[in-house]
Amino acid sequence: MLQKMRISKNLLIVAALAAAASRAQNPVPGANTPILGEDAVKVSDHVWAIMGFPNVAIIVGARATLVVDTGLGPRNGAIVARVAAKLSAPNAKLYLTTTHFHPEHAAGDAGFPAGTILVRNAEQQREMDLHGKEIVERFSSSNPQRKELLADTNLRTPDVIYNDDAKIDLGGASARLLWFGRAHTNGDELIFVEPDRTLISGDVVQNKTVPNISGDGGTPASWLAVLDKIATLNALHVLPDHSEPGDGSLVTQEKAFIADVRTRALALKKQGVSVDDAGKQLSAELKTRYSDWPYMNVAAFVKSVYAE
Ligand SMILES: [Zn+2]
Ligand SMILES: [Zn+2]
Repeated sequence: MLQKMRISKNLLIVAALAAAASRAQNPVPGANTPILGEDAVKVSDHVWAIMGFPNVAIIVGARATLVVDTGLGPRNGAIVARVAAKLSAPNAKLYLTTTHFHPEHAAGDAGFPAGTILVRNAEQQREMDLHGKEIVERFSSSNPQRKELLADTNLRTPDVIYNDDAKIDLGGASARLLWFGRAHTNGDELIFVEPDRTLISGDVVQNKTVPNISGDGGTPASWLAVLDKIATLNALHVLPDHSEPGDGSLVTQEKAFIADVRTRALALKKQGVSVDDAGKQLSAELKTRYSDWPYMNVAAFVKSVYAE
């Protein structure tokens, strides 16, 4: 886009096709736009969502509001805080938590008002301390807009750090914050809202989206163990961070997909197929078998299976 003047007509057509393809691959409106909108959709009685990059959950009780994820950088954090204030009861306390340490989920806390209570699990905070700054720098160097959005990032220390399980009473609704083990990252947090039975699932349960293990995150096997624990919650609604919301069947679907890729990849490994060939072969095979998934490239996930 920066070199617009040098782009020929043919290249413009290619760019338009690529943009159309990327829209098709990202069913959530705004999933590719780093600046969040001010509209929230209702997911369940107490849960609202700003759909974008990422989907941000706002859980509204009679006495307090809990926001899950900040958006990319302080400017997005301020947008989320504004939307949360509009939905909140008068004089409500404001809590903030993050599904994992990646910048579009956790690097916008400086945009929230003073007095916001930041809560995070110990494993996620450990990961933030180790890799938080490094990943903000990596994101910033990837494009100028991200750099601008992340300029005043301040990864502050949480007010509350819990180990496995914390419960926040919001008044008429409560949120359980759960660390069930390693999946997309080491510190993935699941948020379960009662009485709605709404699960805010981060990257751990998504909707027709190929799973991705980030850096030194979990393994396919540990991800499956996390999903077994999630299944016991018996969620009625699921709000993922980078795909469309759905019902509790998303949990079963995620588990079936990971188990499927893992079984097939382990079989190919046993036959002596190279990891690169297995990635290509399984991407093609699964594209046919999961034809309603918008995008199918399992090469990276197959690598994670081979490395287990
Ligand atoms: Zn992530
Ligand atoms: Zn993300």
